[in-house]
Amino acid sequence: MGVIVQKFGGTSVGDAERIRAVANHVARTRRAGNDVVVVVSAMGKFTDDLLRLADDVSPNRPPREIDMLLTAGERISMALVCMALAAEGIEASSFTGSQAGIITDDEHTRAKILEVRPDRIREALRDGHVAVVAGFQGVSASRDITTLGRGGSDVTAVAMAAALNADVCEIYTDVTGVFTADPRVVPKARRLARVSFDEMMEMAATGGRVLMLRSVEYARRHNVPLHVRSSFTWEPGTWIVEEDSDMEQAVVSAVTDDTSEAKVTVSGVPDRPGVAARLFGELAQRGVNLDMIVQNTSENGLTDISFTVALTDVDAARGACEAVREEVGAAKVSTDSNVGRVTVVGAGMKSNPGVTALMFETLSNIGVNIEMISTSSIRISCVVRADRVEESVRALHTAFGLDAS
Ligand code: ADP
Ligand code: ASP
Ligand code: MG
Repeated sequence: MGVIVQKFGGTSVGDAERIRAVANHVARTRRAGNDVVVVVSAMGKFTDDLLRLADDVSPNRPPREIDMLLTAGERISMALVCMALAAEGIEASSFTGSQAGIITDDEHTRAKILEVRPDRIREALRDGHVAVVAGFQGVSASRDITTLGRGGSDVTAVAMAAALNADVCEIYTDVTGVFTADPRVVPKARRLARVSFDEMMEMAATGGRVLMLRSVEYARRHNVPLHVRSSFTWEPGTWIVEEDSDMEQAVVSAVTDDTSEAKVTVSGVPDRPGVAARLFGELAQRGVNLDMIVQNTSENGLTDISFTVALTDVDAARGACEAVREEVGAAKVSTDSNVGRVTVVGAGMKSNPGVTALMFETLSNIGVNIEMISTSSIRISCVVRADRVEESVRALHTAFGLDAS
């Protein structure tokens, strides 16, 4: 028997009945002789509700106060789960991120974990208790409460599992594992028994939101076995593993979709050395993370530069571009939020030419125009109109032979 970390997402603890079901499952795991650490998210869509409330109260939202507000959601869940465990006859104690020793930097709303000091969690386990930890939150060196970014409870769970040298980190959610595409978009998607870390990272980075990207990176770095599974059916789900030689390398193993980005274009940019450096330097300084970048061929010494950013960063990106526009004498800055991205991911792509051609042909067959393209050795992404994303994903899923029979 060993140490097991079990993380439950929002839907999994969405109401009293769900919380009792979770407690029952945790109790069984405990009774089987395991040390159990539970990590919980806020109930249902509570984090979104709190953000809306903040919006209604004030256009001014100091990040420190947003973090203080949002962490309340996970505190509610952890206390309720402990109460439900008590009803199961299981001794349990709840811990905030700070109490659990999740030490972060001080980047409010998107803090990174610097260190985990799980002394109190170890103590609770030694006393025979189940430790229930509030996900998504930590404390900075300057003792302010921080949050880890949306979906961040996944990172809490993996970090706890790494710090405690857990045998497995189980991510319980509202689907039965990682699928060949979001099963809500592609009804014919199939569950994958195993996915390599490489593929999972590409999926998480391009919209496969079942695991937060940073949790996958952390798990790989610290060798944490990850098992994504359902808190509704409790059946075995998907293991995220290091790629090994006997692993079947599908040319394309998944198709992802993402409509959380916008396209920013700076047009009429003088095509001379130093201009791009100035533009992207300004964006970096303002903390804007870029994704795809495209520069058109120059005409009459002028060019257009387009890139994609998270929708939440559009205003900051526009500000940076406007500032540089005057300085370098570019014509115009425009933004477009009606874009989306479709991506095919597969470790076998490395050794199989023709994936790009089939992807373009498939999109062309349904009359979808490709606006931007980016690739890695195991991924191809295309930016298309947002309202064409879902049908594009379905067409690609079929074209690459992924549909369930
Ligand atoms: P939780 O609240 O448990 O963290 P999330 O909503 O963050 O759950 O993630 C689970 C959701 O991820 C599923 O409901 C599903 O719609 C979506 N999803 C997107 N892509 C995939 C995929 N490839 N496989 C499984 N689920 C996916
Ligand atoms: N409650 C947080 C969110 O909605 C964290 C999480 O669920 O992982 O983003
Ligand atoms: Mg999640």
